[in-house]
Amino acid sequence: MAIREIVKLGDEVLRTKAKEVTKFDESLGVLIDDMFDTMFKADGVGLAAPQVGILRRICVVCVDGVTKYELVNPEILKFGGIQRGAEGCLSCPGRSGIVARPKKMTVKAQDRTGESKLYKVDGFTAVAFSHEIDHLDGVLFVDKIEREDE
Ligand SMILES: [Zn+2]
Repeated sequence: MAIREIVKLGDEVLRTKAKEVTKFDESLGVLIDDMFDTMFKADGVGLAAPQVGILRRICVVCVDGVTKYELVNPEILKFGGIQRGAEGCLSCPGRSGIVARPKKMTVKAQDRTGESKLYKVDGFTAVAFSHEIDHLDGVLFVDKIEREDE
């Protein structure tokens, strides 16, 4: 268990496309646990590996403090509808604004052992999935803000 440093806006790593995970070893499990610890410590609901300086396709999400999602090599299979809500990002402190996201999503992802799983999510969980998966392609919520808070 360790808290990792969160990379902030302006760092090139946040704008770089992350690579697929191909090795499902012990260090992947350590990284995922560290990402959860780092996210909870910072009061976040999601965190992507590039935010801790690692360019691999991994993200973690927990919006209710109970259900923990670990998404390795996530792939959006389906999405539908639109919802708009206020968002922020642990890598963009002090910034928040309204972003449009899919209302529902079906996502395929592996877990730390490489097992493939299917997730059907909606509401705020879908927002978090969409936000975190964007990070893996170097996309930040500030790129999508429709109305920024002052
Ligand atoms: Zn973010």
